[in-house]
Amino acid sequence: MNRFILAVTASLLMTGGAQAGVTEEDIANDQSMTNQVVTNGMGRHLQRYSPLDTLNTGNVKNLVPAWAFSLGGEKQRGQETQPLVYDGVMYITGSYSRVYAIDVMTGDEIWQYDARLPEGILPCCDVVNRGAAIYGDNIYFGTLDARIVALNKDTGDVVWRKKIADYKAGYSYTAAPMIVNGLVVTGNSGGEFGIVGAVEARDAETGELVWTRPVIEGHMGTLNGEESTMTGTLNATWPGDMWKTGGGATWLGGSYDARTDTIVFGAGNPAPWNSWLRNAGQSNDGSGDNLYAASRLGIDPSNGEIKWHFQTTPREGWDYDGVNEVVAYENRAGEQRLATADRNGFFYVLDAADGGFVRGVPFVKDISWASGLDDNGRPIFVEENRPGDPAAAADGKKGDVIFASPSFLGGKNWMPMAFSQRTGNFYIPSNEWGMDIWNEPITYKKGAAYLGAGFTIKPNYEDHIGSLKAVDPDTGEIKWEYKNDAPLWGGVMTTAGGLVFTGTPEGKFLALDDETGEVLWSFQTGSGIVGQPVTWEMEGEQYVSIISGWGGAVPLWGGEVAKKVNYLNQGGTLWTFKLPKSLAMAQ
Ligand code: CA
Repeated sequence: MNRFILAVTASLLMTGGAQAGVTEEDIANDQSMTNQVVTNGMGRHLQRYSPLDTLNTGNVKNLVPAWAFSLGGEKQRGQETQPLVYDGVMYITGSYSRVYAIDVMTGDEIWQYDARLPEGILPCCDVVNRGAAIYGDNIYFGTLDARIVALNKDTGDVVWRKKIADYKAGYSYTAAPMIVNGLVVTGNSGGEFGIVGAVEARDAETGELVWTRPVIEGHMGTLNGEESTMTGTLNATWPGDMWKTGGGATWLGGSYDARTDTIVFGAGNPAPWNSWLRNAGQSNDGSGDNLYAASRLGIDPSNGEIKWHFQTTPREGWDYDGVNEVVAYENRAGEQRLATADRNGFFYVLDAADGGFVRGVPFVKDISWASGLDDNGRPIFVEENRPGDPAAAADGKKGDVIFASPSFLGGKNWMPMAFSQRTGNFYIPSNEWGMDIWNEPITYKKGAAYLGAGFTIKPNYEDHIGSLKAVDPDTGEIKWEYKNDAPLWGGVMTTAGGLVFTGTPEGKFLALDDETGEVLWSFQTGSGIVGQPVTWEMEGEQYVSIISGWGGAVPLWGGEVAKKVNYLNQGGTLWTFKLPKSLAMAQ
């Protein structure tokens, strides 16, 4: 197409009067508008459930590839993106802060954007990106040097570009941004570097900051360029100055519960990992809880004020980040609920109205650090399974080594679970593994790892680490389990056709029966799957897409788990499948 035609088209659009592109209404109704996917999570409630049933348990065996798209180049590593689909175009992000626009019918590239990353970025856990947001005529995504970029969705040209935080201090960005009422809402990454987690909202048109909300007590929020309120109460749950480098990275992004007009974000581990440095009294009376690290926060989207919090792991000491996604749903009795499956191995159901604890059950087998939860959802700690205090060691350098399960990579990590409106169950991609862990002395140094801990990760079972589980949120019952040799690291999607989709590091893209866990269809994608599936409908046919490209945190951490994954090949291919009309009725 020549420039003249482009210019004419653009001027026609601008004089047309109607608002161009994706609207708040499109975003709010993403789940029911099955010809598009304009949110991360297939709806800001993050249910990852499609009401489409054209493709179902009876005909999924006829699902065939429509096209594949290579991300190309030498920049491979983990591909964790969730595709967006809008107006005939698919948008994906790639490793090393790249974005691609692709013709959704043919798989042809329309444009590509490469962020120019500086030397010295500090991504802790691979150079991944988990997806973009779309609003108006813009695509939004975050970069490994902690910036947020708005691109024109038709050209890939930069509309604006803003710094979230200082990458030299360990900040980065990997989550999909979220759009709420014209605001671009982001968190930050860097919890292993003594950064301070925060949630920020910007005007989507201009990129100007509207509000900021640090998630560690003692830090000041802002609203419209001025100080707003302090987060929590200074030194209520943190000793001395430890809150200043207190961690709590909000690295997985958030969800939005329209029923209560609440943004829900999780906060990662408190820093450093050595919990003895964050609890002056070494007591369990709440004075060393380190709020709001390892917590979920309900936030008012209009001003960034915290409405409620629920802390999953007070005085966290095992790297059990509290960031895992919070899914808004209605249970079988019609009650408004939130659910989350934490790194610490417990699955929590909360009251959507105020984040109040309703129920918590283990979703992995061998939790060692807590014997259960009390009536408020607070863990009942097994004190001897906290890594020992190095100050109590003979040499003062290495505390007692303990075995903890789950491992620091969690009963579940970032990979999103799905809720099915058809069954009322959650489908949780979990891992059964533990670790030897010990604490060491540490002092904060800008841009350096701030752990004060060492660890060796190991499988809990010979025959599997990965375990996809169907969990009944009303009873906590595990309805079925699909075991996988390597650790699961990809997202899950459910459909009204009775299907559960996910992928494995071994490269298989799977469709399982939502009632039984039986594998009904599988396809070898050529590299490990750590991405997130989506489905949509186009010209009467149902499509499913998944990105393949092995990487993420697992292959970086060695231990005995390395044996399960060190033979896996990298890659970078987006696969799109369809159920052809001619085969939709076939059984
Ligand atoms: Ca962490």
